[in-house]
Amino acid sequence: MQTGPTVALIVAAGQGTRSGSATPKQFTPVAGRPMIAHAHAALAAHPGIDRVVVVIGDTQADALHAAVGEVDHVFGGATRRESVAAGLAAIGDAARVLIHDAARPFVPVAVVERLLAALDGTPGAVPALPVADTLARSGAALGDIVPRDALVRVQTPQAFDVAAIRRAHADWDNSVEATDDAQMLRAIGLDVAMVEGDPMLDKITYPADFALAEARALPALVSRSATGYDVHRLEAGEELWLGGVLIPHDRGLSGHSDADVALHAITDALLGTIGAGDIGTHFPPSDPQWRGAESGQFLAHAATLVRAEGGIIDFVDLTLICEAPRIGPHRAAMRSRIAALLTIAERQVSIKATTSERLGFTGRQEGIAAQAIATIRVPA
Ligand code: MG
Repeated sequence: MQTGPTVALIVAAGQGTRSGSATPKQFTPVAGRPMIAHAHAALAAHPGIDRVVVVIGDTQADALHAAVGEVDHVFGGATRRESVAAGLAAIGDAARVLIHDAARPFVPVAVVERLLAALDGTPGAVPALPVADTLARSGAALGDIVPRDALVRVQTPQAFDVAAIRRAHADWDNSVEATDDAQMLRAIGLDVAMVEGDPMLDKITYPADFALAEARALPALVSRSATGYDVHRLEAGEELWLGGVLIPHDRGLSGHSDADVALHAITDALLGTIGAGDIGTHFPPSDPQWRGAESGQFLAHAATLVRAEGGIIDFVDLTLICEAPRIGPHRAAMRSRIAALLTIAERQVSIKATTSERLGFTGRQEGIAAQAIATIRVPA
């Protein structure tokens, strides 16, 4: 076996029109993060892999940056084969390469282990699974059955000795398009070993595949809930902002920002779900830049932090505690505004109101209190 680094090449240069999305599918969210971010994270975290390089289309650098951050990448070609060749040319003195399609977001560690182990004794190895469905030839009507016991489904990542797969690419008849790299290695007379594949590696191609992939990824997510609470003083001469909506009232809430107790309570609840402190940690009242600030930006920032951890915001429930104004007439507007700030659906936002029976500071209309609970799912 040659010595040198082991590199993972993620082929992500496709324009992905069959998925039904305007965005190429590799940059489309699945299970809470862009598709390509799943495979990138799994391969980058594997101790047997020294470097991950993504092959993208020449207009996709911004999309990659938005999806995964500043990561090693090269520009591919017009076909998958040309994109892989560009990747192979860019990995220098690598000894082993795992070539992976970005459309297979969930890469089990065990499959990578099996591939790397197999590569010790062979120039190429692929994950493969038996075919469970009946296979038949298609035509105007159902055609003959094809015996399935001798067939397998071949997945990626596919692992190769770099010198061997470079030679296979150099020798390939370019008038023919290869659907994977293992067939190119076999075309120069070298053997490709099979290791056990995994249904998690199934390719996402059609819209329905996204739902299946989400369902498969679900066990890896855990649910978390956290609460938030806030109070602001009611004073004459202030605007009353509640739930991101300006409400006509004889007094308004006072505070360093626009004092929107509802948004502050939800912001704290969301920050709580990821253990990211509270609103004061991120937007200190001592910082003059937040004087009079619109609280929607605090809430949107909290949602961004949750999503940066791979989180999915499932539900937000808010209770406002005040004698006046009446919340009912403004509930729909608040719900819509909060859903927009969190980029979730209105049905994922609940707004309730109660009085404190004229007891305490809310009963005396000295202030308004808000409490919220947020429920999210995050990678376990
Ligand atoms: Mg506050």
